[in-house]
Amino acid sequence: MKRNLGNIISNARKSKNISQKTLAEKLGISTQAVSKWESGISRPNAENLMKIFDILDIDTSNWFSKRSSPSFHKNTGMGSIRSIYKIGSGPSSSHAIGPERACMRFLKEHNGMDSVKVVLYGSLAKTGLGHGTDKVIKKTLAPIKTAVVFDKNTKVEHPNTMDMTAYRNGALIDTVRVISIGGGDILYNGEPSSTEKTVYDFTSFSQISDYCASKGIELWQFVEEKEGTEIWEYLKTVWKSMKISIQNGIKDEGILPGGLDVQKKAKQLFLAQHIDETSETKENRLICAYAFAVSEQNACGGTIVTAPTCGSAGVLPSLLYYEQQKRDIPDIKILHALATAGIIGNLIKTNASISGAECGCQAEIGSACAMAAAAIGQLFDLAIEKIEYAAEIALEHHLGLTCDPVCGLVQIPCIERNAVAAMRALNAVNLASLLWNTRKISFDSIVKTMGETGRDLLSYYRETSDGGMAKNYNGK
Ligand code: SF4
Repeated sequence: MKRNLGNIISNARKSKNISQKTLAEKLGISTQAVSKWESGISRPNAENLMKIFDILDIDTSNWFSKRSSPSFHKNTGMGSIRSIYKIGSGPSSSHAIGPERACMRFLKEHNGMDSVKVVLYGSLAKTGLGHGTDKVIKKTLAPIKTAVVFDKNTKVEHPNTMDMTAYRNGALIDTVRVISIGGGDILYNGEPSSTEKTVYDFTSFSQISDYCASKGIELWQFVEEKEGTEIWEYLKTVWKSMKISIQNGIKDEGILPGGLDVQKKAKQLFLAQHIDETSETKENRLICAYAFAVSEQNACGGTIVTAPTCGSAGVLPSLLYYEQQKRDIPDIKILHALATAGIIGNLIKTNASISGAECGCQAEIGSACAMAAAAIGQLFDLAIEKIEYAAEIALEHHLGLTCDPVCGLVQIPCIERNAVAAMRALNAVNLASLLWNTRKISFDSIVKTMGETGRDLLSYYRETSDGGMAKNYNGK
């Protein structure tokens, strides 16, 4: 018999003599939402589902093994890889760059307003203070008088939702709802940002690899074909900016802002000698130093390149910089590697998510690690199958990784996590280059799995700082 969640909830509720209204009140949601679940129009999120099981005493023993997968976005194409690499201010693409872009558009469209009220919901409300979301909003809208409200209680469909209301002489002119969907991209009143025009008519790695095989081209050539040769100028700027953040980061010292008293450590890592300074430990030390450098610049609100997000911006450049220094690799090869990594990030963004608030840290650091593994595979001229496998391994072993930043700052665990993921990406490339013909899991399949896993994570572990380390942190 086909299991139907709506029927299960409805039958269990009726058998307990609980009305839809009472159930809705217990969950803190509207009666219409319960009605929609029961009629199969929508599904409760993982958190509400757990509460429903509890309230209605539903036996879950064989539910989890048999339930169908939640459906994800339906996509017909992908945007430019430019949207994966955005140059902007840290510390968070969804909490700083996204709101910053929303404010810029709001300003342009509301000539004559004299004050603005911005209400932040979900993860934006819960970690917006630590991420400096209010400061970015006020700075971007200045000199217009702006009030920012952190509404942690109102339930919203997307965890990164904000409402912007414009006033003139106290009278309301307009309200716009903005959703920060990750990597600095926004949905502005339901419309995607301009970079989201379809550039690629493929949405899976298997389609892309078949296409490349049929034309005898590499992934970076595929990018050039779809994006035009102008992409190289853009990636040149991206690479320059990545290098600057590493070079600044390894010279920088002091304490990161935010009150956690976290020391900047990139310089120390860069200059220190390991007790057993072999070529392997040196490699590890330098790659980690570069990853710390970018992540610390990000935590300071410095200029960084999302790859694919601010919080995970250190993984990819640390490896590329290390390899370029070590092997004297020309910039053009680095740009090709960035192009290939961009495709990986784009596929994850299109078919799952690159947002910690949507799918946990696996969507940010896991994606960055997959991008870095693919980039190094490209740098070493590996075949497309090996590049795919490297990216797949990198993402697979981040499945379930939670996002629980302490005090809502992009510092603990984020900075170290960039360094660890960079080393893991190297490991993934090494395994893939040797074992590629034994693999059983495709990149497309692991992306789908990551998306589903992320949607099933309780909200505590999706950039709300309500659970995990953020909850247990006691300063020691
Ligand atoms: S834990 Fe991961 S996803 Fe969350 S803010 Fe830090 S880097 Fe981003």
